[in-house]
Amino acid sequence: MTAAAVNNIVIVGGGTAGWMTAASLAQHFIHQQVRIQVVDSSEIGTVGVGEATIPSIRRFYQQLGMTDAEVMQATGATAKLAIRFNDWYQSGSHFYHPFGIYGQTVRNTHFVHYWRMLQQQGKAGPLGDYSLAVQMADKHKFSPSPAQAGNELGVYDWALHLDANKFAKLMRDIALKNGVTHIDSRITQVVLAPETGFIRQLALENGQQVDGQLFIDCSGFHALLIEQALDAGFEDWHHWLPCDRAWAVQSQRVVPPPPYTQATATQAGWQWHIPLQHRQGNGQVYASDYISDQQALEDLHTAVDGPLLHEPRQLRFRAGRRKQAWVKNCIAVGLAAGFLEPLESTSIALIETAIDKIKLLFPKQDMHPALIREFNDMTAREYARVRDFIILHYKLNQRDDSDFWRDCRAMSVPDSLMHKMELFEARGHFVKYRWEMFQPASWLSVYAGNQFLPQSWDPMVDNFEQDYLQKSLAEIRQNLARHVDAMPSHTHFLDNPNVTALSE
Ligand SMILES: Cc1cc2nc3c(=O)[nH]c(=O)nc-3n(C[C@H](O)[C@H](O)[C@H](O)COP(=O)(O)OP(=O)(O)OC[C@H]3O[C@@H](n4cnc5c(N)ncnc54)[C@H](O)[C@@H]3O)c2cc1C
Repeated sequence: MTAAAVNNIVIVGGGTAGWMTAASLAQHFIHQQVRIQVVDSSEIGTVGVGEATIPSIRRFYQQLGMTDAEVMQATGATAKLAIRFNDWYQSGSHFYHPFGIYGQTVRNTHFVHYWRMLQQQGKAGPLGDYSLAVQMADKHKFSPSPAQAGNELGVYDWALHLDANKFAKLMRDIALKNGVTHIDSRITQVVLAPETGFIRQLALENGQQVDGQLFIDCSGFHALLIEQALDAGFEDWHHWLPCDRAWAVQSQRVVPPPPYTQATATQAGWQWHIPLQHRQGNGQVYASDYISDQQALEDLHTAVDGPLLHEPRQLRFRAGRRKQAWVKNCIAVGLAAGFLEPLESTSIALIETAIDKIKLLFPKQDMHPALIREFNDMTAREYARVRDFIILHYKLNQRDDSDFWRDCRAMSVPDSLMHKMELFEARGHFVKYRWEMFQPASWLSVYAGNQFLPQSWDPMVDNFEQDYLQKSLAEIRQNLARHVDAMPSHTHFLDNPNVTALSE
């Protein structure tokens, strides 16, 4: 006999994760009789930070029927083409990690191989000279990317800097419009079925009892169901990612918003500066083993230009992930599933991919163990790959101004990361796995931005005529410069958000 369908889903938590999950599942089940309830507590509140995103968010809200212009208006958003990393390699250095690729393939050979050969001879400029997105970001230009670029040089993508609370509200409106119900009350008890250990019911402070067949834990750092009730366990990555606190504060914006996030390395961590239309988000992420709360706060104050809009808020966290994101009839999404510092703006993206996986493997009431295994396996891989990418930023630094940076440089990294670094160093080779968020171009940005470059390259390149290659590089630079010159400024775009992509 086949198991019965799940038709009663309870989502615990009304932060970004809870409402994104609710909006997306409500749309997914729009033609079916599936009840979806969100339980949260306005007394407890949400984390509420989380303002920089990666381009997948645009696909997410477009699937919900929203346009870029609508979301930008509702959330006071600006466009994001890249992250500008300041002072990471050494004080005074900077590089961009763009949402785009570098250069052009020549005779089936990836750009990195011939660029590196010429760069070693002093005959090629910096990597960023060959990226449209970097050139646009650097000159504060912006135009939406065309659906189909005319050639490789025109390939780039973009994301948003947005007000996280306004975005969660937008998701909430969509969910409620599509039939999701909402209960605002603190959960006081999670009742398990004695015979199976499945979650059967939530007891609420207002006296209500909420039954469900599938529970989605979006309760944030509380991990109320997945950890407190079901003991999923936590894999701690603090030894690789020692930053464990942040100060966050919003300020009045005093300069026109650039189309990129700024991530600036500081003595024991880094600062973010995220421009929105109506204000700026700022934060200091730091390792409390190396610097006091007070000093970290002072460092943040020094770096914020405009007047503060409220008192700075402290957040505490620990890098790592739930050992099992799905246990019995409970799936964790968002901060309940794990935390990686916001250096590459990956938290909201990990919410999106968790929702994708829930849809892909949506269970019957028996919660088939194979589905749970697959979900947990994919989630583990995805988190580990994002983790490795973030560790890379720290590992490659050459700063000598504090123990924090010296220790980061000296730490031994996970084998999976070491493997990637060795392949790149040996031959400019990139490993690309399934369930991996960052493409080779992203890895190349961080490697090259920290002067970690291949010692050798594809031997095919040695047979190419150098004059021809040099001419190709010069043409790429000229083409990109022409293209960028013709683009409007980012501020022009913000005033005219309905404009479409420039023709090639
Ligand atoms: C310093 C910092 C900076 C960040 N920056 C970024 C960024 O730039 N980009 C990005 O993508 N992400 C960022 N993030 C992550 C981002 O904030 C989160 O991914 C996002 O807010 C989702 O949070 P959440 O919904 O999982 O949890 P929360 O926002 O904490 O929501 C938890 C929900 O659970 C409810 N709840 C908890 N316990 C109970 C209970 N007992 N009864 C009833 N309800 C309960 C709460 O009321 C709340 O509604 C950042 C995080 C931090 C800490």
